[in-house]
Amino acid sequence: MTSPTPSVNPVEIARIALKRLAERGLPPTPENYAQFYNAIVTVKSPGTKTNDELQHAWQVLCKLDDALAEVNDTTVQLLESLHESGENMAASLGQLQHVRHARLTRLLNEEEMHKDVEALLEDIISSTHNLHASVSSSHEDISAIRESVKHIEEDLAFNRKMMEQDPLTGTLNRQGLDHLLSREVKRAHRSDGKLCAVLFDLDDFKQINDRFGHLVGDQVLVHVANLARAVLRETDLLIRYGGEEFLVLLPETDLPGASFMVDRMRLVASKSAFMHHNQRVEISFSTGIAKLNPDENGRALVLRADEALYRAKHTGRGRVEIAE
Ligand code: GH3
Ligand code: MG
Ligand code: MG
Repeated sequence: MTSPTPSVNPVEIARIALKRLAERGLPPTPENYAQFYNAIVTVKSPGTKTNDELQHAWQVLCKLDDALAEVNDTTVQLLESLHESGENMAASLGQLQHVRHARLTRLLNEEEMHKDVEALLEDIISSTHNLHASVSSSHEDISAIRESVKHIEEDLAFNRKMMEQDPLTGTLNRQGLDHLLSREVKRAHRSDGKLCAVLFDLDDFKQINDRFGHLVGDQVLVHVANLARAVLRETDLLIRYGGEEFLVLLPETDLPGASFMVDRMRLVASKSAFMHHNQRVEISFSTGIAKLNPDENGRALVLRADEALYRAKHTGRGRVEIAE
């Protein structure tokens, strides 16, 4: 039996690998990096990224690899050069001491001592000169590497943003949800503890697809995401939670505030109907709202919103239910 080849996202794996290295306090040497990268590749489950995304991510990884190799080379060269200059200087200093001793014990006359000291000074100047040259060139190399690492960081940030974005609606997807949830929950517990989760699910969306076609269904989803964006604050987070389900996280918001947002959403939806060939496409959604409890984590919060949504669905649709 053949096992399927896992389709993996290199940038995500690179990110995890670097995070793991940092967690363990290990330097990101190419060897350490490769070891962690490979370990993660073997446990990662298949992703669903497009070829373009993979190609882009792969290019960033290659650049990262090159930059790490350059760092390695430069450090090796710098260390060698420091070692060599250090040896030369130690030898010159040893000789200087020898000359001084010879002069003190009157083995050398004034003129001989001057000649020896002159020669030694020359050696020391030349060693210092070499050292300075290699430090300057390493400095230039390292500056260039820092510049390319900066570009890689920008690429990684861009890639990460792309991976956390739903390509259809431009909202966040579930990729970074755990991270977002724990960040928002921590923030809420640190301050006033106010955080609400709102889950929307479009009602009978299958029928919209069946009546108007899948492409129109897609446009309806984009329309709904735009409506939500129109009523949300900048600090609110809109996530495409499932096919026709959206999760909204409302920081610093209590239950009346969340209900107000849902009412506004309904109002805006009724005023800005989705039109298809001059025909109004009725959009209805069911909603579940939950407010963060003390000591509750993000998953539990969303689960309660989901249970409330389930009740809203099964008590007639187009309704809002608030979790206990
Ligand atoms: P309910 O009121 O119980 O939520 O009914 P529903 O039809 O909305 O729910 P159901 O779970 O039966 O079907 C969801 C539908 O959403 C089926 C699926 O094809 C459609 N869907 C999911 N993702 C997309 C998408 O990206 N585009 C389009 N056009 N349709 C989608
Ligand atoms: Mg659904
Ligand atoms: Mg639905």
